[in-house]
Amino acid sequence: MFSKDILILTRTSLQCRECKKEYDTAFKYICDECFGPLDVKYNFPKLTKDTFSNRGHTYWRYFELLPIENKSNIVSIGAGMTPLIKADNLGKKLGLNNLYIKNDSVNPTFSFKDRPAGVAISKAKEFGLSAVGCASTGNLASATAAHAAKAGLPCHVFAPSNLEMAKITQALSYGANYIAVDGTYDDANRIAAQIGDSKGIGIVNINMRSHYVEGSKTFSFEVAEQLDWQVPDQLIIPVGSGAMLNAICKGFEELQTVSLLDDISNMHMIAAQPHGCAPIVDAFKKNSKEVIPVEHPDTIAKSLAIGDPGDGRYVLKRLAQYNGFAEECNNKEILDAILLLARTEGIFTEPAGGVSISVLQKMVEQGKIDKNDRVVCYVTGNGLKATESIMEVLQKPKVMKANIEEISAVVN
Ligand SMILES: *Cc1c(COP(=O)(O)O)cnc(C)c1O
Ligand SMILES: [Zn+2]
Repeated sequence: MFSKDILILTRTSLQCRECKKEYDTAFKYICDECFGPLDVKYNFPKLTKDTFSNRGHTYWRYFELLPIENKSNIVSIGAGMTPLIKADNLGKKLGLNNLYIKNDSVNPTFSFKDRPAGVAISKAKEFGLSAVGCASTGNLASATAAHAAKAGLPCHVFAPSNLEMAKITQALSYGANYIAVDGTYDDANRIAAQIGDSKGIGIVNINMRSHYVEGSKTFSFEVAEQLDWQVPDQLIIPVGSGAMLNAICKGFEELQTVSLLDDISNMHMIAAQPHGCAPIVDAFKKNSKEVIPVEHPDTIAKSLAIGDPGDGRYVLKRLAQYNGFAEECNNKEILDAILLLARTEGIFTEPAGGVSISVLQKMVEQGKIDKNDRVVCYVTGNGLKATESIMEVLQKPKVMKANIEEISAVVN
């Protein structure tokens, strides 16, 4: 742990999201006064668009806006700066002239979780922790395990036992101690929280959460830079715990604070959840400020199967603040959307990405998006992680004899 005199030199502090009390940066995530979550607050240096333009193609190009004091503590496996694709084919189908897909399915561990996990593991290294871990709906397990491997730290993964085999295989391959909990994500999360605190393990999305969420801000930094520092009109974001949506808002706000973006108050934040685990959509539609947990999530979008979303309340606030909406889609709609994206743009996503695309479609149908709006749809994970569920709507190829006439007959 840091000594007091080192702390004085830090360029960040922690601030309670509720009562605004400030703390020195430390391995700490809850306010002593009111138990509110702690967010990272910065003393920003002077930044210009040119500050970033000649740097490496990872999200660490935004170092000044991330909560690591010393660059030597960065643990990077090359994540970030993923493509922002102008989706003209899909746009044409939907009647949109300025549709962009932020394609995070091509990160090193094949989901956006490399963003928060990489920042959290770097901070764990900076704090001098001797082990890390996470509670995961699948993708975070791989992202944490891969970055832990790079950092040379042991990694403990707590996950519900019903996850896709690809996600389990991946995390095990990176060398994680994988604990498959017979229960829901919320059960795994509760156990991870207790073990993390009692053993001093840096659980990236629980006791490291203040720093973890900062990584997802890079989703705003990259989109802003890739749009040549113009503010998007509509952002469609898949929501599980809600940490990402909240962080994306924080990221855009910080860009406005340092004068890299103009007024962001006209952005529209759209939260997308799967039917069967859509507690935030339910609350939004009832105009309620309270998110009622889903006890037994039931959806093929396992990455989003968080019944009791930690940042649910804050997502509702963000939707109110940024002219937002929340919408859900069912399993069939998710699978249709996966194929639609794959067949128009050549991008293969897992069900969470299908949720974004399906909700995008619904927003257009409901007249919530204008055809000339600058729309950014976040595709957060790779289809190879969930082939079992996607294969259900595809025809398994029939094995044929290597006979020219027979095969020629089916090539029309
Ligand atoms: C975790 C995850 C999400 C949801 O992120 P939250 O911060 O939990 O809201 C979305 N998409 C994918 C692919 C994920 O793995
Ligand atoms: Zn507080």
